[in-house]
Amino acid sequence: MKLDIAHVAQRAATGLLPEDSRVDALIADAFAHAAAHSEGAVADYIPALASADPSLFGLSLVDVHGEAHEAGDSGVEFSIQSISKAFVYALLCDEVGHEEALATVGVNNTGLPFNSVVAIELNDGHPRNPMVNAGALATTALIPGADAEARWLTIQHGLSRFAGRRLELDEAVYQSEMAANQRNAAIAQLLESYGRIRQDPAEVVDVYTRQCSILVSAHDLAVMGATLADGGVNPVTGERVVSAEVARDTLAVMTASGMYENSGEWLFEIGLPGKSGVAGGIVCVAPGKGGIATFSPPLDAAGNSVRGQIATAYLSRALGLNLFASASHFTPKE
Ligand code: GLU
Repeated sequence: MKLDIAHVAQRAATGLLPEDSRVDALIADAFAHAAAHSEGAVADYIPALASADPSLFGLSLVDVHGEAHEAGDSGVEFSIQSISKAFVYALLCDEVGHEEALATVGVNNTGLPFNSVVAIELNDGHPRNPMVNAGALATTALIPGADAEARWLTIQHGLSRFAGRRLELDEAVYQSEMAANQRNAAIAQLLESYGRIRQDPAEVVDVYTRQCSILVSAHDLAVMGATLADGGVNPVTGERVVSAEVARDTLAVMTASGMYENSGEWLFEIGLPGKSGVAGGIVCVAPGKGGIATFSPPLDAAGNSVRGQIATAYLSRALGLNLFASASHFTPKE
């Protein structure tokens, strides 16, 4: 999609955010600019999501000092959906380490839809990355716990540590997705047939669906993103949630495949790791600086929030966040 940011000058990426008042002003500008857009459609393949209010729009930036800069509906809760995949992957990496995480789910983009069965078949049943459903189901299956309930509690507790508060389940979204979950059930069974998951596939789908139904606000997601931006330490609570190496590895995977089939376009325009979900959330991470999160339910054809992409693109340019944007330090020799 066209991001409507041609008028925003690209600043080079530096090690620091500008001063707080400047960040606040740019948050207000980005919000107003993106709020003027009403394109996109609310997801409806999970029945409970179809009734989302398309006018809701929240924007939050939490920096690595735990300072929040926000606009609009930044405290409104919605289901985290696919954004959970990034944080559950981080929990798994913290448990099993770099090499085993890489061997288990891979880190390459599929170039295919997030719930593709073809992508599994083309790769001998080996999930290509943890941001698509096959890899996410394999990841969830490996989270430690004696049974499905214990694995769910590990995930709920882990994501709550990222957010710095106890996150709850949206029971209605969970029930609604469970009743319409035939495709994820098929993917889990296919993974079982390839020996890629050893647990009961129905249980894995149940835990995965609960993880997707966790309620967060844009503010929560910005804190979660800021934790990955801050070497794995939650900058609000001061708690180390994952190691610095795990934060780094998770951001690499989000960069390659966090934005569905448009991960390359996102990187081209925004130049930061991001992850989006079908309820309309996006989390984006500026390493060493902070997390940016948006919530706006209308999605583009790839499944990414329209206003969320525009607001994040605006901030990436105006705040100098794009990891690839440098300015010349050339000085002629005397
Ligand atoms: N729970 C959703 C699914 O598995 C998540 C999809 C998404 O946010 O991309 O279909």
